[in-house]
Amino acid sequence: MLAAVARVRLTQLLGHVMSSLSAPVARRALSYLPRPFVRVIRGVLDSRRMTAVTTAVVGTLAIALLAGIAFGFARAQIMREEFAKLNVVAAEVLERSERSSAQVRAAIAELQAHDTAPCSPKSVALMAELNLKYGQLQGVGYVANNRLMCSSYGRHGDGVLLPAPTSQHTARGPLQLRKASLSLASSVGPQPVIMVTSAANGYTAIVSPTLAIDVDTKDPDVALGTVLYSSNEVRMSRGKFNPDWRGRLGDGQHAEFVKDDRIVSLWRSPRYDYFAFASIPADAANARIHQAGVLLMSCAACAMVVLLFLTGRSARKALPLSDAIREGLRRREFYLVYQPVVELNTGRWVGAEALLRWRRSTGEHVRPDIFIPVAEDCHLIEEITDQVFELAAADLAGFFEKYPDFHVAINLSASEMQSPDVVPRLKNFIARVTGARARNFAFEATERSLIKPDQARPILAEIRGMGSTVAIDDFGTGYSSLSYLQTLGTDYLKIDKSFVDAIDTASVKNHVVAHIIGLAKDLRLQLIAEGVETAEQARYLSDRGVEYAQGWHFARAMAIDELADSLNRQAA
Ligand code: C2E
Ligand code: CA
Ligand code: CA
Repeated sequence: MLAAVARVRLTQLLGHVMSSLSAPVARRALSYLPRPFVRVIRGVLDSRRMTAVTTAVVGTLAIALLAGIAFGFARAQIMREEFAKLNVVAAEVLERSERSSAQVRAAIAELQAHDTAPCSPKSVALMAELNLKYGQLQGVGYVANNRLMCSSYGRHGDGVLLPAPTSQHTARGPLQLRKASLSLASSVGPQPVIMVTSAANGYTAIVSPTLAIDVDTKDPDVALGTVLYSSNEVRMSRGKFNPDWRGRLGDGQHAEFVKDDRIVSLWRSPRYDYFAFASIPADAANARIHQAGVLLMSCAACAMVVLLFLTGRSARKALPLSDAIREGLRRREFYLVYQPVVELNTGRWVGAEALLRWRRSTGEHVRPDIFIPVAEDCHLIEEITDQVFELAAADLAGFFEKYPDFHVAINLSASEMQSPDVVPRLKNFIARVTGARARNFAFEATERSLIKPDQARPILAEIRGMGSTVAIDDFGTGYSSLSYLQTLGTDYLKIDKSFVDAIDTASVKNHVVAHIIGLAKDLRLQLIAEGVETAEQARYLSDRGVEYAQGWHFARAMAIDELADSLNRQAA
């Protein structure tokens, strides 16, 4: 219950906010369009609908914009996470590399500082000691004439022949670099090692080419390694390095970017001439971004559907009744039902009153005493009556050929009774009903339509002249007096239901009924009592000479087919 109330409130609030936002937007949007175009739009859409359409358009755009912004954020967040993962890997590679570079330098420096003859027993012992001290190293040694003469594993006779070095210049003097397979001991197997030799004194550090990059990444697609900054030459790597990447580092310490479908992170060493890189293919991140996009799009689509549903509903609800009537006429939402008029002393059905019904496209039924007054106020009543004529002509085609003495009463409104074209309209209507004659129709006018007797008199006379009859509806509720009605010339008076209701009570109206009946008799007007609901009322009226009656006691209003069926049964 509470939820329903909250939902209604929310819908109203949303409708209110959106319409207060979008009405000016709609006006402004229209001011930019060419005049004839605007006229067409205005013709098709009334102002409420215009607002609803603008609300829907503005709302949809707003949702799309928000979804776009949210997607941007989600994408940035996913990329931030990917970069963060890679930065950790690259930073660890750099840190390990720096640690081993520092140990290489320190070992070479210590060997030089001790000033023992190279490969003397003392020197070899020192090498073994340094090898233990510096855990990142696989060994230390001494190189002369391209041969490893001795190492932390002992003296090597005439020396182990080494491949030619490449040289590298550092702040501490030139270094020679070699990649070699040494097989010196179980810890230095046949797998290649890197030898870093001081060009100045031949002291050498032996390092594993994979130690620094042996970072546990979990992701097998990660490429990582270190690259010489000055020459852009790969020092050690697992997976591919793209030489274009270095350009993104510039003079800086760090760079992260996406290039050629790979996400890349670079960290440059502040102490050594190299930088570390880590990179992964962008597909995984792209897949996550795609997923986020699909999710957001689905949410946005749902929000749009809800918005369109709510604006559509509020537009339909907010539509003023006059607009709704216009639309109802256009969509043919009206239909007629017929309430029998009963001859009281025989119980025969002598006629029926056509009553208009309106079932809206929403399924809601609107009562005529709601929509008829609005239609009268908004000058729509003539269109309503035209539709009544059309419906009646369709319902009653051929009907009177079978029931020539039956009559159907049609309700006319006050303004129509006072308009000069009423008689031609009625004639035109009767002519369109196949097999009908004027005497098959009665026209009901309320007392209110007769306040200008000089205007009404000739019109009533003409209608009666045609052969139709005239009934004064709701008699007793208006301003007219009976004697003045006589001068107008009518056939029937319809006693309003409020008097009939008073029959079995002791109210004043009870006396009035008797009075009306008496006077009508004197004036030789026939009476139809409306809204007869009980047998007592029927007997009372009949006893006092009221000729006809309508009411639920006899029959409710029914569809034309049902009326015809009942008449057939009565005839049988
Ligand atoms: P009305 O012309 O006085 O019509 C009689 C109303 O009383 C009808 O209501 C009818 O259904 C109702 N009625 C009949 N017998 C009983 C009864 O025993 N008990 C009760 N409680 N009600 C009964 P409805 O159809 O709702 O029409 C209301 C009014 O709307 C009509 O009053 C008439 O003024 C107007 N109306 C209906 N159809 C048309 C139409 O086609 N054209 C015009 N201009 N007005 C119409
Ligand atoms: Ca009536
Ligand atoms: Ca009435």
